[in-house]
Formats: sequence, structure tokens, C-alpha cells
Amino acid sequence: MPQEDVFDITILGAGPTGLFAAFYAGLREMRTKIVEALPEPGGQLAVLYPEKYIYDVPGFPKVLAKDLVHNLVEQTDTWLPTYCYEEKAQGLVRRDDGLIELTTDRATHYTKTLIICAGIGAFRPNKLELESLQRFEGNGVYYFVQDKRPFYRRNLLIVGGGDSAVDWALNLKDYAESVTLIHRREGFRAHPSSVTELMESSVDVKLWYELKEVHGDGYITGATIFDNRTGEETYVPTDVILLNLGFKADLGPIRDWGLAFDKRYIVVNERQETNIPGVYAAGDVAQQDGVEPLNLIATGFGQAAVAVNHAYSYLTGGRVFPGHSSEMRL
Ligand code: FAD
Repeated sequence: MPQEDVFDITILGAGPTGLFAAFYAGLREMRTKIVEALPEPGGQLAVLYPEKYIYDVPGFPKVLAKDLVHNLVEQTDTWLPTYCYEEKAQGLVRRDDGLIELTTDRATHYTKTLIICAGIGAFRPNKLELESLQRFEGNGVYYFVQDKRPFYRRNLLIVGGGDSAVDWALNLKDYAESVTLIHRREGFRAHPSSVTELMESSVDVKLWYELKEVHGDGYITGATIFDNRTGEETYVPTDVILLNLGFKADLGPIRDWGLAFDKRYIVVNERQETNIPGVYAAGDVAQQDGVEPLNLIATGFGQAAVAVNHAYSYLTGGRVFPGHSSEMRL
């Protein structure tokens, strides 16, 4: 049997709470792992509102959500934690010896303590029920851009009308051979200044259009789109398709781990402890017993620090108070 690679602490979720928890765990010299369902960090900030300004994070009079995520990752990377992206947590077992086994759809992680920072749940991209599209998933059909190279000098079709669709159209317009963006309505959900830039750009924007069929054998050669007002069909030469159709989130199997819940929240005490020893919860997923939660980035940061320091004390018997960061080895 392979040796179990045991971490001091595992953080479930790489939203702002999870990232700051990972930073704090590193500060306390805990061997740290982060498990995240998405291929990128940032949670709601990255998925739902990357281009929105945030005004209520201490120290930032205003900051774009995506810039805050970038800074959090840079801060967390001080300690080089282990990141496990694209792993959705499925099961949790606390063994008789106290070790925690966290199972995902890809692996089993062994940890002495766990902080659940799962927010409103694991995000998954909305998809289209189109057989001709599904057969090219991972081979010309994308829901995220982790790497721009698949779009280099290709004919790109983007589907969507939110920030992600518009931002990627602008970002890739000079990198791809051509960019066509179809959106099923007239109005965009994206930031108005980005929409203005889009309309003045080289991107071929087709409003009221939807995807009907993807063509190709082995690789994509084209797509048929249709005007949803008239039904009129148009063929678009296409090599790659990027779908930005929003996300769904749900806590899913976390509800079956034996944790105490109050509605959608994991119940914690003032130390952010759940009812399972060694397991903590912080951020949007957690609620102190009977206290109405305040789901904000700033409160998540505070809860992350509380959870990590109590996890450290649980693990080592050491002091909860970490001292001041200015006195620590950075
Ligand atoms: P999340 O950001 O939800 O991150 C949780 C992470 O856990 C996600 O990445 C998810 O994929 C992952 N995860 C969940 N389940 C699993 C699983 N089973 N396996 C693996 N990974 C999993 N707050 C402010 O303070 N100021 C604002 O201006 C502000 N504006 C907002 C605007 C909008 C439109 C919205 C929707 C929210 C806003 N908020 C704002 C709230 C703020 O975004 C949340 O409080 C914050 O994101 C909570 O962070 P979190 O890390 O706890 O959870």
C-alpha cells in the first residue's frame, strides 16, 4: 500500500476565504494543501464578478475583484502550498486515529485538520444540451481559458453575453485568426465599458443568435448558428468554441458528511469548529450557531484566521495567538 502523504491542514475551496486561510496556515508553518473544484482560484470573485470593483476590503479604497484574487494568490504563494485544482470533494471520513480522509473525484487526500471554505458550493459551468457540441469537449470546446494557446490563429466562436464572454473576445481578438461572438439577446450582462469596446472592435458580434450544430470529424470545422427571432441559419467557419454561459453552484455531497447544518450553512462555534473534531468551516459556508451570517470577504478573512489558529492549537497544543506577522519569518 502506498505511503499516505499527510498534510497538517487542507483547505477546501480557493475562494478569498480559502486563499487567506492557506496564507495564514503557511505563516504558522503548517504543511498546507488547497483543494478546489475549479481550474482557477478566486471563488465567486473569479466566476461571478471579476470586473466588478469591491469597496469594502480593508486597505483597498477600491479594488477589482480579479486584482484582489491575484494579490491573494501572490500572498498565499509566499509559502508554496500544494494546489489541487479541478477536484471536487465528494467524501469525508475522520478515522479512529484522528486522521481525516478527504475524497475527491480524482484522489484521496490525507490531512490532520481541514477547513471547509466552500462558499456557496462547487461551481460548474452551464452547458448546452447539444450532442454535436459535447463530442468535442476538451478537443476544441472549452468552458474556461486556462491556456491561450489553443486559440492561437484559430477561428474562434464565443457563446455568451456576460463579463467572461466579452472579456475573452477582447483579449483574444488579436491572438486568434478571427473572433465571432454570439449572444441570444440584445442586452449584455457584461460591464458597459467593455461592451462599448467590443462593439468598436474587430470582433464579429451577432446578437439574437444561438448555436445549433457543430460540424467536423475528429476536429471542429464549422458551426451552424441561428437567429432565434426568425430561425434563419448561418454557417460560421470555426476551429474552436468557447462557451461562457454562467455557472451553477451547490454544496452537493458536503451535506452528507455528518456535519451539523442550519439551512445551507455549516454550524460552527466561535472558534470556527464544526461538530467534527479537527474540521473547521469559514466564510460564506459557515454560520455561528443561531447568529445571522454576514457573507462578506472581510468577515471570511477574519474567520479564516480564527479557524487556522485554532487548528494549529488543536494540532500542536501551541498558543492560538500567533504573534504579529512582522515578527515572523517571511
Ligand atoms: P466562495 O467565493 O464561494 O469560494 C468557495 C470556493 O470553494 C469556490 O471556488 C468553489 O468552487 C469551491 N468549492 C465549493 N465546494 C467545493 C467542493 N465540493 N470541492 C472543491 N471545491 C469546492 N463581498 C464583499 O465583501 N464585497 C463586495 O463588494 C461583494 N460583492 C459581491 C458581488 C456579487 C455579485 C456576489 C455574488 C457576491 C459579492 N460579495 C461581496 C460576497 C463575496 O463574494 C463572498 O462573501 C465571498 O466570495 C465568500 O468567499 P468564500 O471563499 O467563503 O466562498
